[in-house]
Amino acid sequence: MRKKKKLYEGKAKIVYETEDPNYLIQDFKDDASAFNGVKKGKIANKGYVNNQVSAHLFRYLSSYYVPTHFVDLHSDTAMVVRRLDMFPIEVVVRNIAAGSLLKRTKYKEGETLPKPLVEFFLKDDEKGDPQITEEDIINDGLATPEELDYIKRLALKINAVLKSFFERRGIKLVDFKLEFGKDKDGKIYLADEISPDTCRFWDVQSGEKLDKDRFRFDLGNVEEAYEEIRRRVFLEDTVTE
Ligand code: ADP
Ligand code: UDP
Repeated sequence: MRKKKKLYEGKAKIVYETEDPNYLIQDFKDDASAFNGVKKGKIANKGYVNNQVSAHLFRYLSSYYVPTHFVDLHSDTAMVVRRLDMFPIEVVVRNIAAGSLLKRTKYKEGETLPKPLVEFFLKDDEKGDPQITEEDIINDGLATPEELDYIKRLALKINAVLKSFFERRGIKLVDFKLEFGKDKDGKIYLADEISPDTCRFWDVQSGEKLDKDRFRFDLGNVEEAYEEIRRRVFLEDTVTE
């Protein structure tokens, strides 16, 4: 498959059409942004790490029958994916309190939530990606009740699978963001990426943050943290799965 016309350039990826209208190539950039684009920079090798990590996690999730848009690796920094109609929603799953949840609730950073929490945010940069209710999603026609129910269940399944995958590698999966889309037949797939840009990862032993928070809050050793996640993701499982 070859890159044809550039379809879209976002903050973290460039999306290209291919010779087949059903497939796209997404190329991961080293560019980093935070706080809705206010903070900008570059993280060396991020495109490579996020592509490799996402590919591995998509493959792993497929083995648990999670439908994903991933088709194949294209290069060090790019992958072939199914072309989907994206739901304009960011689905956030949380296991441990961190980030924006701390501003909205009484939870303190690091508190384990009584059960995994699923939240929805409208994908709208101009509005600053506000949180939205399930009722709003349905009333605004962003998804049908059935689609939303399926997306929520899938998000919780993905959390269960990934939480244990990362636990076996000495990492706490604190929270993460997912995006979903549907094909021409209405079949829903997990899309976009799963990487240190879109997840919070804390080292079990040291509590060290191994994700984009190092960039957001100038904690240093950003590239090293991304590389450490890549290394752990590619560790062989020592436990029978
Ligand atoms: P942003 O738009 O937030 O700046 P990116 O730089 O990551 O994000 O751009 C990637 C874009 O591609 C996002 O808008 C994402 O929703 C979209 N996308 C991800 N997977 C697919 C897919 N399989 N089909 C169509 N669009 C996709
Ligand atoms: N997240 C993301 N993209 C966004 C917003 C959030 O990938 O546009 C991820 C973020 O990295 C974290 C999780 O979603 O793993 C929850 O983010 P939160 O709502 O706490 O917002 P933040 O603190 O990132 O502003």
